[in-house]
Order: sequence, then C-alpha cells, then structure tokens
Amino acid sequence: MLDGGNEMSTTMTAHQLILKQRAELLAVLCGGGSAEPLDCVLDLLLACEVLVWEDYLSIRVLPEEQKAGLCFGKECAVVGKDRPDTATLTLLADRPVLVRKLRDNIDGALNALLTTGCFTIKDCDAVQLPVYTPSQQVRKLLDQVRFKGETAAKALLQYLEQTETTRPNPEDKENHLSANCLLYQKKLRSSVAAQSHSLSTYGGTGRFSLDDIYTDGLLEVTDGSGETLTLGLEDVVGPLGTLNEDADTVLVSGEAGSGKSTLLQRLHLLWAREALLTNTFLLFPFSCRKLNAEHRELSLKELLFLHCCWPDRGQDEVFQFILDHPNLALFTFDGLDEFKQGFTDEERHCCPTKQVPIPVLLFNLLQGTLMKGVMKVATSRPQAVGPSLKRYLRKEVLLKGFSPGGIDCFVKKHHSDPAMARRVIESLQANTVLLSLCHIPVFCWIVTKCHQELLGGQDVIPQTITDVYLLVLQHFFQRKSPQSQGVLGKAWLEEHLDTVLKLGQLALEGLETSCYVFSGYELQRNGLKEQDVSLGFLIYCNDLSVTDCKRYEFLHITLQCFFAALYVVLNRNSDRSAVSRLFQSQYRQLSSLSQRCLGHCIDSSVEGVESHVTETPNLQITAQFVSGLLSQRHHNLLLECCPIAVRERKVKQVVKSLSKGMQRHFKSIPRPVEGEKKSMHAMPSFVWLIKCIYEMQDNSIAQETMAKLDVEHLKLTYCNIGPVECTALAYVLKYLRNPVGLQLDNNSVGDVGVEQLLPCLHICHSLYLRNNNISDEGIRKLLEKGMKCESFQKIALFNNNLTDACTQHFALLLKSKQNFLSLRLGNNNITSQGAEQLAEGLSYNQSLEFLGLWGNKIGDSGAEALAAALKNSTTLIWLSLVDNGVGSAGACALAKLISQSKTLEQLWLNKNCISREGVECLIEALKMNSSVKEVW
Ligand code: ADP
Repeated sequence: MLDGGNEMSTTMTAHQLILKQRAELLAVLCGGGSAEPLDCVLDLLLACEVLVWEDYLSIRVLPEEQKAGLCFGKECAVVGKDRPDTATLTLLADRPVLVRKLRDNIDGALNALLTTGCFTIKDCDAVQLPVYTPSQQVRKLLDQVRFKGETAAKALLQYLEQTETTRPNPEDKENHLSANCLLYQKKLRSSVAAQSHSLSTYGGTGRFSLDDIYTDGLLEVTDGSGETLTLGLEDVVGPLGTLNEDADTVLVSGEAGSGKSTLLQRLHLLWAREALLTNTFLLFPFSCRKLNAEHRELSLKELLFLHCCWPDRGQDEVFQFILDHPNLALFTFDGLDEFKQGFTDEERHCCPTKQVPIPVLLFNLLQGTLMKGVMKVATSRPQAVGPSLKRYLRKEVLLKGFSPGGIDCFVKKHHSDPAMARRVIESLQANTVLLSLCHIPVFCWIVTKCHQELLGGQDVIPQTITDVYLLVLQHFFQRKSPQSQGVLGKAWLEEHLDTVLKLGQLALEGLETSCYVFSGYELQRNGLKEQDVSLGFLIYCNDLSVTDCKRYEFLHITLQCFFAALYVVLNRNSDRSAVSRLFQSQYRQLSSLSQRCLGHCIDSSVEGVESHVTETPNLQITAQFVSGLLSQRHHNLLLECCPIAVRERKVKQVVKSLSKGMQRHFKSIPRPVEGEKKSMHAMPSFVWLIKCIYEMQDNSIAQETMAKLDVEHLKLTYCNIGPVECTALAYVLKYLRNPVGLQLDNNSVGDVGVEQLLPCLHICHSLYLRNNNISDEGIRKLLEKGMKCESFQKIALFNNNLTDACTQHFALLLKSKQNFLSLRLGNNNITSQGAEQLAEGLSYNQSLEFLGLWGNKIGDSGAEALAAALKNSTTLIWLSLVDNGVGSAGACALAKLISQSKTLEQLWLNKNCISREGVECLIEALKMNSSVKEVW
C-alpha cells in the first residue's frame, strides 16, 4: 500500500504519501484480522529508532481490534546500522527477530530471568496471561525487561547466547513431562489408532486395514514464486510451500472423493504409531460433519476432551500443558466444506476456558486468535474456501487424487489375486474413460469393488459417473439378494424402489440442510428399517466423542448425492419444478443468500455469511447425477420406476436448465477489444455444466448448446481440470462451429487427460497446456492426432515432464505440417539431443514463427543444431533459448542465423554463459541484419 504507484512517490514525500492515504491506512488498521501485523510494524519502528519508547507505550494502549489488518512484509531485519552499545538497546534493535526466536521458548527465557532474580513470579504471570498469543507474550517480556533495566537485559542476552549454542533436544521436553501428560498421550494415541485403523468404505467387509490399501495420492503446493512443488505426506505439516509464516493453518483441498479424509486418517495413524509427526506430542482429530451436531456452547478444553479423548487423571494439568506448549499440539479438521456455517472472522475469541458456540471456537482456532502456535490441518473442497479464510492459511496443499501409477498400485492392493488385478488393469486400459475416472480415488474404489459386474460384460459400458454409481448400487443389492451368486434381474431397480426412495429422501433432506450424520430417529422417520441399513449404503459413524446414541452416515458424500439424485428423478410426488430448482440453485444463491434451493425443510437459524457455499458443490454433484439418470442410456432401467411422461418432462427441464446456464456464460463474454481475440474466461460453473451435458450422453444436446458459442479463445486456467473433466470437455467442445484456442494452463490434465482431449483437437487452433504434468507418452498420442488436424497450429507446454523422447514427434509434426506456427516447450528436460532432433524437423519446415525452449539444457551443440536448421527459415519471428547453458560457440552459431534471417525479430538469450567472443559475434551479425528488433 505504501508504494502506491511510482508516479505518486516521485512527486510526494513519504510524509505526504501517508497523509494522502490516511483514510485507507486507517481503514486497514481498524478492519478485522489479527493485531500481529501492526505489532510487527511497531517492533520495526522501535528497532529503527523511528518511534521513541514513550510513543510506543501510548500506541500500545490502542484497543486490539484497531491494530489489525496491515501486512508489512516478512523480514524485519535492521540493516546498515552500528551495533548498539548497551544490552537494552541491543534488545530494542533486535526486537523483530527476537519476537520470532523467543516465541517457542518463552518458558526458558522466563526461567533464566527468574533464576537471575531479575523477574518475580508475578512478572512471569503477567507475561504469560493466556489471552496473549506467544508473540504478544514475547513483547510483554521484552517490555518488562526494558522496564527492569540493563541487568535484566544482560541476563536475557546471556540466555539467548546459551540457547544459540545448545539446540534443544526434543527428548528433553519429554523428560520434563509429567506422568499425567504421558498417560494422556498414551490414551490419545491408542484411541486415534483404533479410529484410524480401517477405512469406512471397507468397514463391512473387515478385509482391509488402512495399511493394506492406502496408496499415496498426488499432493501439490504452489510456492511464493508461483512454482508448483510435489509433496510427500510428511511435508503436509512441514515448511515446504509455506506462504504465510505467521499463520498456523494448513489447508488440504481437493474434490469430493479425492482422498482428503483418507489422507488425514493416514496422518493420524502414523502419528499414533510414532512413525510420523514425531515432534507432535498430542494430536486432536476433529470431523466438521460431526461438529455440526454439537449444539452446546463449549470451551476449548471441553472441545478437546469431550470430542477427542478424556484425560483420566490430571485434566487441569494436561490442559495447562497444551496451553503452555502450543507448538507440541496438532489439531486436524476434516471436511471444513461440510461445516454448516461458512467461515467468518467477525467474532474474536481468545480465552481457552470460556464457553462459546462451536463455530466461534472453530473459526478462532483456524485464524490463530485462539491457541496461536498450534498447528492446524484442515481439509475442504476448493469451492468452499473463500478469501476471508485464505488470509489465515499458512499454505494450501492440493490433493489431486491418484497418478496413473497410483491406480495400478491401488488395484493390486485391492485384489490379492495378481491375475485378477491384471484383468482389472487391462480392462481399465481398454476403456480410457473409465481409467480417467479412476484418478479420483472414490471412483477407483467403486470400479475395483465392482470388478465382477465390470468384467462380466454389462449392457452399458460405464462411461459416466452415473454409470459407475449405478454399478455400485447394483453391487450392493446383489450382495444382499437371496440368490446372491445369481445376476440381478433386469428390473432390479424397481424391485428395490422402496428402499431407494427412502434412502434418497434422507439423502436429499440432508444435503439441503448440510446434514451428513443421521440419528436412529431420523432414519426411523424416513421409514428406514434395519434391513435397509444392512444393505451397506449407510454406515455407523466412527466417532471418538462421548455420545451414547448410534449415528449413521452415507459411505461417502458422493453416494449421498447419488441417492438424492435418484429421489429427484424417481419420486412421483415431488413438485414439478424440483429439477429446475436444483439446477438454478447456485445462481440464486449468488444473487440472494437468503434464498435456498429446494428449501422445504431448512433450519432458518443456520443462515450464515458464507453458508450457501456448503451446499453448492453437493447440489452440483446431485445435478450431475440427475442428468446422468435421465440419460437415454438408462431409459430401460427407469422404465418401470417412473412414468414415461414424468421422465420426459424432467428430461426437458434438465435440457432447458443446461441451455439457460450456458447462455449465461455466453452473455458474459465481453466484446473483443480492438486487435484482440474474442475470448471467454470460464466462470466456475462452466465446467460443471459441461459435465452435466456429458452425463446425458446425448450428442444432439451437446451440439445444440455449442452451436451458440462464438469465441476464438476459451480460457480455463486454474479450474481443477483433471482427466475426468477433459473427457467431458472434449465431448462437448468437439461440436464448436469454429476453431478455438483452448487454454488449460495450470490444471492437472496429465497424459490420460491429453488422450481424453483428442476428440476435440480438430477444433483447436491452439492448445495451451502449461504446467499440467504431461509426459512424453501423452505428447506422442497428442501429436499423432494433431498431425492430421488442419486447424491445429500452436501448442504451449511450458513446465511439464517432457524429455528428449518427445522431440522426435515434434520433428515429425514440423515436417508434415507446413502451417504450424508456434511451439513452446519451456521448462522441460530437453537436452542437446532433443534439440538436434527438433532441428531435423525444423530444417524441413517453412511455417514456424515462434519457438520457445526457455529453461531446458540444450547447450552449445543444441543451439548450433537449431541455428543451422533455422538458417533458411523464412518465417521465424521469435526464438527463446533463455537459461539453456549456451556458451560462445552456440552464440556464434546463432549469429550466423541472425546475419541471414530476414524475419527474426526477437532473440532471447538471457541466463546463458555467453562470453565476450560470443557477444562480439552477435554484434557483428546484427550489423548485417535489418529485421531483428531485440536481442536479450
Ligand atoms: P474425500 O474426503 O476427498 O471426499 P475420501 O478420503 O473419503 O475422499 O475417499 C473416498 C474413498 O476413496 C475412501 O473411502 C477410499 O475407499 C478411497 N481412497 C481415498 N484415498 C485413498 C488412498 N489414498 N488410498 C486408498 N484408497 C483411498
């Protein structure tokens, strides 16, 4: 904020600048947020001697909420000054650094001050008031030391020196632990272990423990410089990818079924076994869906002990230990997206013993207002995390499901018979649509579980998620049918219609009210009996909290959505507009928070700031299933369950809703700016609408919808597009009337996704796939098809996993496609060999205008080969070989290219190792050239 534009700062003094922005600064200061940033600024101003002590004391009495919201950078080091000559001044000059250093070690410092007689017990108590965060406690300590004078300051400095030389040994901490704390740890470990030992989806069968089946998912984090890093499970809590040092909440986000709960469960289990998170003394696992059912006001102490584990002895002592050692505790919150109330930071609460409503407790823990210093890991679907929560996140880790190798590994773990595992893997490879679904672990679980139905040859080969969920429905009914070995009759759905409707009603009512856990009473009210429950769609809640009554949940949230969809489609009594309302829900929610879709049994007390966000993703999945169930493919199955006229009416409603939804998007397309392409930046629900159209599997619907879209560029960056979404996109986009540029940068398309995109490649003049985890194999398939597509002219593949093994395919493309314009392969692993292969293709090409190889390793010989191949090019305009280890030999070769080229305008050569000789060659060449405008 302070450098509000160069223009301003050149004409104004800093003082004027602050005066001019006074209103904005005040607004930020008085807004919500923690007091930490302002305190940091005060530390810095004190250290720089800008603020005198008296002024500091008068500012310090500002109410906390007025000191909030500013962020003034991370580093507070004071540079370019002489070291101060007294201990008091040293503490002042180092204050910003000391606040960080000491906040995990306040006890030690206080002890030192006590033993040297500089502090009294009363002084220590005043510093350690539980309402202060650890950083605030350090500041109080430093203030008090200053007040006590030079001797105290010297004692503190001496203590700091000692701790610098003797790094703390984690085991020492345990030596000081009381028997009660150790006993509690033991109890907590064993109950966490018991709770996380097996997966609920395998609950009934008792066949698998988590150890047997757990397969690593893909974890990614984007660091401060925008680079994507891959993480291991141990890094979730570690420092990798940290964006905000002052925050303690790590968010793991991923789509429904991507394995978030399972990942947490794995963390819990490994902690309980002391195999991971060994520095965490106590781990408290919470489930947000279960917290929804807690209507009492609780204190932090009650939350921990009632919901996780009850200390048999020394409750106060154990709790005090947690308060004193926040850095030794870890809280996890599974399914933040399922918490009834959306996150808000409006109500501040920092007292660990005061009882407050659960949302206040939860939100203050996440923000760090309460129990600052305790690490928190929360999971959520990405849509449910708004900007108000994002500012309190230490980092956001994306869970992207299984890699192709992960799918194989999972199938092998699931089937102990290797021959069976092989058959399942082969059948997946033969049906790449199904394979792409398997990237989402929950689908992979179903597909693997229903392998018999799958291999046994169904009427309908599964292509959509609805197909997959019908498979699991059939599987469960079959398991319980009297002739359990026999195949279910054609009318199996009709036979079980009564149960399906009862489960469906429960599911839908739950979704509408953000309710995912049901009491026995609620089941009864819906007419569900023991035999319905025993089918296995509902399972007992695995719960650590102290409650007597049994509670149930659906095997997975997606299964609850599926039953809700079955209810919407099959219920004869539903009102006529139920389908349309389901599809419109999200638009309505955006325009008016108070209106709810399908809202006939909504608890009005849960209206909250962001509460609408909770249901939207689930209703979207439900709508997707509704589209799938109404597909012509399932006409026969539904025939006896639903009168044809009713079905037809519902189909029409879906089609109309989808078409209207698309219209909204198309209307949002701005008029093209002069000289620019007409471009559409997809809004979040665009991909969802496309997926619904795909579920319907009706070409004419896809065709009609797309006929109205008239753009030259379609931008879908950062849209969580994986292989499943690629299948749907290609299915719909192939009907576009005119070629488009399809921009899919920063998604997780992967090789399987690339293969799914092939059906729409003919309609793409440009394909942007930067940062998408694509390897040589994906490129091979892409180019094989691309070569035959007349319109396909540009590709951008910056930051993927490409090596020299893909360059031969590009060479072939360049040779055979004399209208190809742009090839960008930056930040991959292409060496001189790859460059030589590319050169081979380039020497036959007379169309390429842009060639980007930034951040590879082509070296001198690669540059020489390219230069020789491009010498005769009459089209090349732009060439980038930045950061490629090119030396003077390469530069001299490129100089020849410059001297001959009549078209080259820009040559990028930064970050290489070109010496004087190379530069002189380039300068000489430039004298002969008239087209080059820039050489970097
Ligand atoms: P989410 O919490 O993201 O909705 P879950 O963790 O509940 O997803 O996963 C759904 C199901 O998928 C699990 O019950 C399990 O059967 C399977 N699954 C998810 N992740 C894994 C994994 N890492 N290893 C093995 N199976 C998994």
